[in-house]
Amino acid sequence: TEIRITRALLSVSDKTGLVELGQALAAQGVELVSTGGTARALRDAGLAVRDVSDLTGFPEMMDGRVKTLHPVVHGGLLGVRDNPEHQAAMAEHGIGAIDLVVVNLYPFEATVARGAARDEIIENIDIGGPSMVRSAAKNHAHVAIVTDPADYALVSTGTTSLADRRRLAAKAYALTARYDAAIAGWFAHADQGEALPETLPVALTRGAVLRYGENPHQAAALYLPGGAAARGIAQAEQVQGKDLSYNNYNDADAALELVAEFRDGPPTVVIVKHANPCGVASADTLIDAYRAALACDSVSAFGGIIAVNRPLDGDTARAITEIFTEVVAAPDADAEARAVFAQKKNLRLLLTGELPDPARPGLMLKSIAGGMLVQTRDAGRIDETALKVVTRRAPTAQELADCRFAWTVAKHVKSNAIVYAKDGCTAGIGAGQMNRLESARIAAWKAKDAADKAGWAQPRTTGSAVASDAFFPFADGLMAAVEAGATAVIQPGGSIRDDEVIAAADAAGLAMIFTGMRHFRH
Ligand code: 5GP
Repeated sequence: TEIRITRALLSVSDKTGLVELGQALAAQGVELVSTGGTARALRDAGLAVRDVSDLTGFPEMMDGRVKTLHPVVHGGLLGVRDNPEHQAAMAEHGIGAIDLVVVNLYPFEATVARGAARDEIIENIDIGGPSMVRSAAKNHAHVAIVTDPADYALVSTGTTSLADRRRLAAKAYALTARYDAAIAGWFAHADQGEALPETLPVALTRGAVLRYGENPHQAAALYLPGGAAARGIAQAEQVQGKDLSYNNYNDADAALELVAEFRDGPPTVVIVKHANPCGVASADTLIDAYRAALACDSVSAFGGIIAVNRPLDGDTARAITEIFTEVVAAPDADAEARAVFAQKKNLRLLLTGELPDPARPGLMLKSIAGGMLVQTRDAGRIDETALKVVTRRAPTAQELADCRFAWTVAKHVKSNAIVYAKDGCTAGIGAGQMNRLESARIAAWKAKDAADKAGWAQPRTTGSAVASDAFFPFADGLMAAVEAGATAVIQPGGSIRDDEVIAAADAAGLAMIFTGMRHFRH
């Protein structure tokens, strides 16, 4: 099972470590065969190299599209060494065995990532490379296939073991699978107008391995698109703190996606717990926004995940560190803020750069037993002109502003979602209940609790606007909001009992707006 390498074919785009490997192999008496650029690099280092065109009897042609695609190469890779018929065919056609292939592929993903033109991207689809990788890997009983400079040391001794060749073959097929998935993914996005591709090419590479999943008995890792221009919480720079956990990523994602809705708005702070916001506020300064968001539900905010839409300053950082916080995500942080956080060794500080565009397209994936549910992102935003006042009373300017704020937050709260807001701050959030009435009651109850804690004369639901992520199927949920003191309502509308709900709103003197769009989130 141990094989001595007599002939190696080297053809690499990334020439890292190439010369050292060539030297080590030559020292073991291995014959080196190479394609154009690779041969040149080896010769420049003073090594003797045979051109692959010398082997094939054909020049490299068509801009390098055809270099190694020849029976002399693939026969040398695929011929089974202990099969007499294969040996006879090799002898008859003058095909010499190749025992080692060292290949890495044209940088397709990097070419896409740097925004190259279509023609250049197409030219960076490697054909001969993957063909050699697959031929050599299939014949791993006799041939070693190396696709990663990190594995050069395995073969530089001039011999290979079967166990290594198997491992290298598995890695090789993982590479070609990922490579083709990246190409298919590019076609899916570059060419078709449709948002949902017919097949979903998954080209994700394992990044950080996480301590565990949602629970300690679950394994978990972060997977990332290779070389893609993706930007989100997965790409954030961690400045300090413990490693992020699975739940940290999930919560930080929820916080960042919500605060990104305010990327062109005033200073805004989002506090998330278990993927739901427990306090959101906009104000003139970041620290005021933080204090207001915290006051909304200071009990839940303990151990929370915070996202902000402005670079962090020292004052805000100091306020944040007054209570235990798991993660803080911000576009940036000034020197003073960094120094403050540095005192809290465990706190994870994530810098995201410019916030992602909330309207960007994208796919959301959810695995179910035996399959995957795929949908486009909820990039929906209410169009000013689509807002319809359905009550006798129209909202005041302040009510309208609060309605819009509450609606934006409700989009990021698990259904059934009820959000009360006043003066650019959430007053009460009811999340994830199995009926809307319950969510309305819980949100009001939490607002009252917050008022008691803060010593306010009345809960901030008094005179608030309330958003419901989907229509009120009955008037009862609306009446709970009236009881809590809401004076304006924003909801999609569309229930068969809309008339009943509108009549109840009119009877209570409410102003109500229909959006015509709902934001379920499960
Ligand atoms: P070089 O720099 O040696 O000229 O080219 C090396 C690259 O060519 C490697 O990335 C290898 O995968 C690729 N390659 C080798 N043979 C062929 C072929 O026949 N066709 C194409 N398109 N690429 C090839």
